Amino acid sequence: MTADAEPAASTSQAADPTSPTTFADLGLRDELIAAVTALGYEEPTPIQREAIEPLAAGRDLLGQAATGTGKTAAFALPMLQRLERGREDRRPMGLVLVPTRELAVQVSEAAHKYGRGLAARVVPIYGGQPMRRQLRELQDGVDVVVATPGRALDHVKRRTLVLDAVEVVVLDEADEMLDMGFAEDLEALLAAAPERRQTVLFSATMPPRLERIAQGQLRDPVRLTVGREAPAPGEAPLVRETAHMVARAHKPAALGRVLDVEAPTAALVFCRTRDEVDQLTESLNGRGHRAEALHGGLSQEQRDRVMGRLRAGAADLLVATDVAARGLDVEQLTHVVNYDVPASPEAYVHRIGRVGRAGREGAAITLAEPREHRLLKAIERVTRRRIPVERLPTVADLRARRMELTRSGVEEALADGELEPYRAVLDALVAEHDLVDVALAAIRLAHEATGAGVEDEPEEIPDVPARKERRERGPGGPRGDDRRSAERRGDGDRGGGDRGPAGPTARIFIGAGRAAGVRPQDLVGAITGETRLQGSDIGAIHIAERFALVEVPEPAADFVVRALRQTKIKGQKPTIRRDREEAPPPRAKGRRTDRPPTG
Ligand code: AMP
Repeated sequence: MTADAEPAASTSQAADPTSPTTFADLGLRDELIAAVTALGYEEPTPIQREAIEPLAAGRDLLGQAATGTGKTAAFALPMLQRLERGREDRRPMGLVLVPTRELAVQVSEAAHKYGRGLAARVVPIYGGQPMRRQLRELQDGVDVVVATPGRALDHVKRRTLVLDAVEVVVLDEADEMLDMGFAEDLEALLAAAPERRQTVLFSATMPPRLERIAQGQLRDPVRLTVGREAPAPGEAPLVRETAHMVARAHKPAALGRVLDVEAPTAALVFCRTRDEVDQLTESLNGRGHRAEALHGGLSQEQRDRVMGRLRAGAADLLVATDVAARGLDVEQLTHVVNYDVPASPEAYVHRIGRVGRAGREGAAITLAEPREHRLLKAIERVTRRRIPVERLPTVADLRARRMELTRSGVEEALADGELEPYRAVLDALVAEHDLVDVALAAIRLAHEATGAGVEDEPEEIPDVPARKERRERGPGGPRGDDRRSAERRGDGDRGGGDRGPAGPTARIFIGAGRAAGVRPQDLVGAITGETRLQGSDIGAIHIAERFALVEVPEPAADFVVRALRQTKIKGQKPTIRRDREEAPPPRAKGRRTDRPPTG
């Protein structure tokens, strides 16, 4: 990460990505340090290292950083740094504007955790949630509001959200907000906040329109860009690099699958936090792997013991944080697995530098959530190598791979020789059975002895397509009247196309259709709003006169049904259930299946 030298703006010093900086070095107050420590953050990410000090000093900031870089803490910690303990003012001192309801909840939860020790009152405000509850929370008093622009402006107009006491405004994922047609709302909100305030703008991209807003709204900002630095020569070894797109819920299974198929001699699995390291180590051991945890919380003695077990072959998986793995050099390592996309391209380069050393072959596999797609792209730009996104190995791939392992095991035994002691057993068997049958039975035994074939039937893990780049959505994105539905992540008319769930799907029947004014974006909004599914998880949508059908990932279907039953669609509570017909789902965009609703 570097500071970007723009003539009109001052820049901060580029941090040495390898220099250890702690949260305490950044001058954060004790309550905040305790909060991040409790969350298992061992050290600030590059963007936190760069942004926290100038923000705490009151500077405006223009940051180009994608999700996954740790930018939420980068702006939330300095905001909370200025929060007076036991503050009595009921009006918010911080306003964070975000493009979607999903992000509002996520950022608000994060800020709540960071501010726990300060008893910070953090409230998310977004479209689609009843106004009444939001009113109550705003009236009770709030320190930080995390809001989508449309709903924030509604409240400001009703005077239920008063921005007079706002000291800091953050525009998070500003490019997305512009794309969703929120430019005017943003300007209106900024105009309603005091002129003497701190303004922070984060965006993954910096289109000219955003530059103009930044010029008008930010005062002498610090400019930061994540991921501009090229790696030092020799730091990027030639390893096989791939990525898989996986929903968070499927990550443990996906990791297990990758490890089963890759069968590494020894692998290093990277996580972001200490807690994640501990949890993952436990879950891997539960799945029959021999995993050891390595993080900053271990004493030198414990660390030595872990490394000893790895070197002696008593463990074959090391689950580690970036800090703990720094400088690690283990000859046996064949694989690095990024359980999360690392927070910066530099961290990625450091991580994969643990394999492929001294000309040995290595593999680096990254499990990315769809929302981390951009971070992956940023890494590609820095390393100047493509990281192909491949589908997760299927159950068939796994079986084939296990057979291959059994075959190579038998070949090794043949090469080793020393088979004479078994000849008497073979002779006895062939006296009664066909030689080939005997060989097959022996292979089966060998195969089962590896654990393959005797365990529970492995399940297919749905892998999800990366979220589409904004540009592909067409110029400008939804505008005007469509804006409110865009706020709820409506994605317009929907056929199956190249998006939607990759694994098995189920169809949900909704007893309201065109006659009730139901549009695809209403259904996408309701589903993404009430569940953890994202727009890209939803498949074909068919809207008929009196009913609608939506395709969702099979494992989530019952949950979607329950969640939708709790909510209103176009002000109604229509019948919601799994579709009973087993016909293939409607595929073509806008196609009408004028058959009657099933059931
Ligand atoms: P964000 O880019 O803010 O969405 O953060 C991405 C993820 O990184 C979140 O799950 C955070 O909890 C996590 N995270 C943020 N800062 C750190 C840190 N310093 N160390 C480890 N994880 C972090």
